[in-house]
Amino acid sequence: MSTTPATAVPRVVYRRPELLTERSTHYCPGCGHGVVHRLVAEVLGELGLGPRTIAVAPVGCAVFAYDYLALDFVEAPHGRAPAVATGIRRVRPDAFVLTYQGDGDLAAIGTAEIVHAAARGERITAVFVNNGIYGMTGGQMAPTTLLGQRTTSSPAGREAASAGYPLHITEMLALLPGVAYAARGSLVDPAWIGRTKAFLKRACEAQLEGTGFAIVEVLASCPVGWAMTPRDSLAFLRERMMAEFPPGLLIDRGRSAVSDRPED
Ligand code: SF4
Repeated sequence: MSTTPATAVPRVVYRRPELLTERSTHYCPGCGHGVVHRLVAEVLGELGLGPRTIAVAPVGCAVFAYDYLALDFVEAPHGRAPAVATGIRRVRPDAFVLTYQGDGDLAAIGTAEIVHAAARGERITAVFVNNGIYGMTGGQMAPTTLLGQRTTSSPAGREAASAGYPLHITEMLALLPGVAYAARGSLVDPAWIGRTKAFLKRACEAQLEGTGFAIVEVLASCPVGWAMTPRDSLAFLRERMMAEFPPGLLIDRGRSAVSDRPED
């Protein structure tokens, strides 16, 4: 016989967001992409943006994002998501436009596209997953790889003398007046995942307010590329990645950034 009072309301502790499909992902155990997908699905769902969103998928480990998020997607050539999103934004002013890219895609091959989309103040929201490595192609050094970090193309560890320093591209973008919002989150623990969701929500609101380009970088682990267990990769994320790339809000120009540009 049940001891639950007839008036008790069950507390929901887990529910699949409507914008997350029921497919299992191809991601490795401990990968951050699945968590970011869920956050994107939750935020877009809470803002009621699913039906009007056109997302742009990257090349990289998240190339199949269109299988996991129940959104309209366009697949961009490697690094070109901000350019594709710019075209969508201009021909579909009613759409909510979101890009999803990893660090190899956004901070190496697509550096020109992200910089100029941000400089133009394109009204798009960019989700930038930084795990400091090229995951899909076998764990090679990326612009965001840490000094001393071993990768398959820097087996002795990245040296500044030959490979330069980790690229802080979100800080660079935050300097541009066309950027309405820039923040860096982390998937290191539930508290940071919650803050990251808040950053993503605010970045979406910036697009709705028409204040300019918005970006959220998300520090995520890549256990396979880092040659670590998922547990050890979280320690690396906290102790090394978050030390090099401090998470937090970088800029929120809010409504004060509204320019004299005519509405799209
Ligand atoms: S290689 Fe890294 S980023 Fe790619 S799916 Fe595996 S854990 Fe994720």
